[in-house]
Amino acid sequence: MKVLVLNSGSSSIKYQLFQSDNWQVLAAGAVNRIGEPHGDFQGRWRDEGGWEHRFELVLPIAHHGAGLELMADRLRESGVLADLGELVAIGHRVVHGGEAFQRPTRVDEGVIAVIRDMIPLAPLHNPANLEGIEVAMRLFPGVPQVAVFDTAFHQTMPPAAYRYALPENLYRQHRVRRYGFHGSSHAYVSRRAAALLGQAPRDCHCITLHLGNGASAAAVRGGESIDTSMGLTPLEGLVMGTRCGDLDPAIPFYLAKNLGMDNQALDDLLNRRSGLLGLCGVNDMREIHRRIAQGDPTAVLALDVFCHRLRKYLGAYWIELGRLDALVFTGGIGENDAVVRERTCAGLEGMGILLDEVANQAGGEGERRVSRLESPVAVLVIPTNEELEIARQTLEAVGG
Ligand code: ADP
Repeated sequence: MKVLVLNSGSSSIKYQLFQSDNWQVLAAGAVNRIGEPHGDFQGRWRDEGGWEHRFELVLPIAHHGAGLELMADRLRESGVLADLGELVAIGHRVVHGGEAFQRPTRVDEGVIAVIRDMIPLAPLHNPANLEGIEVAMRLFPGVPQVAVFDTAFHQTMPPAAYRYALPENLYRQHRVRRYGFHGSSHAYVSRRAAALLGQAPRDCHCITLHLGNGASAAAVRGGESIDTSMGLTPLEGLVMGTRCGDLDPAIPFYLAKNLGMDNQALDDLLNRRSGLLGLCGVNDMREIHRRIAQGDPTAVLALDVFCHRLRKYLGAYWIELGRLDALVFTGGIGENDAVVRERTCAGLEGMGILLDEVANQAGGEGERRVSRLESPVAVLVIPTNEELEIARQTLEAVGG
């Protein structure tokens, strides 16, 4: 049987088709720039002999429905999904499930209504996710559709972690609380960490650091998230590529009053012009290292602020967990940046983190341990795989 995973954004749809007994990726690709004059559709698939085929088409793609039709045609023609009956379910990434969804959920009219109701909490993402679901229901009638929420993994946080110190009615009536995101990634890497340590997930205490363009940390106790750095929206917490993360909440009033900035200008500033980009002019960590090598002091500061914030969360979550078995790095920066890992772990030998400098510098792909064997806390690099996590959860939700 096969599971299709769809991630529908405002102008793109990414997909992966999995073989559900061994989780082999049979096909993957993306439809990009939907609604623009020059869209494109690119991807790859594996034939029965195991040979990989790649394609790229440049063509206008009017709307999500047209994009999904292109994808479906390609899956059929290439033979990886000759018969729709082979599809056991379609899993959709949905960004915000609020408090309504604690686990992946089979989509019906009621679920669609609740996802729609969450739009004020995720105005950029949930409408696009919904569009993907509705189009897929039309194009693949009879195939179970499952919504997998970025927020669901963090629904195990206790109120002490998820409530803001704001008046009660803002929570009760307006749903203002911390939700957390990147749930599929934190779920996947924390489970893999337990497996690598030979522990059952319920025995493993770990801190997972998802460091990409967006970045978040999570404290995971016995397989359950007990705290995470993103909040009502993905703006809170760590320093990110273009997002500021934690701020004194009075800064927006100060800017509104003294610089005349309105809501839109503030939103643009804090979400798109801050973070690493705001500090040094670029948001790509590789470029920041190049600039540091050339002696650019703003790049030095950007890396300093990034690592300082990360260590604050590491300390806080370590205390919350009470015991730490593994510190997990994932995401483009977490998986590839030995300097960030070294800076994060520096000086923590007394607390049980003994980094293996050679293993940390060695690079490479795949899951690996970068701490010394005798290190009480294992430091692990685990490439994230959100699509696989969504596929697994989708199969589980339909009883597979
Ligand atoms: P997204 O959140 O968009 O999925 P990614 O997880 O792909 O982001 O991470 C993007 C970040 O990873 C960028 O800051 C990029 O510079 C960084 N990155 C990718 N490869 C490397 C590398 N080899 N060394 C350091 N940083 C890297």
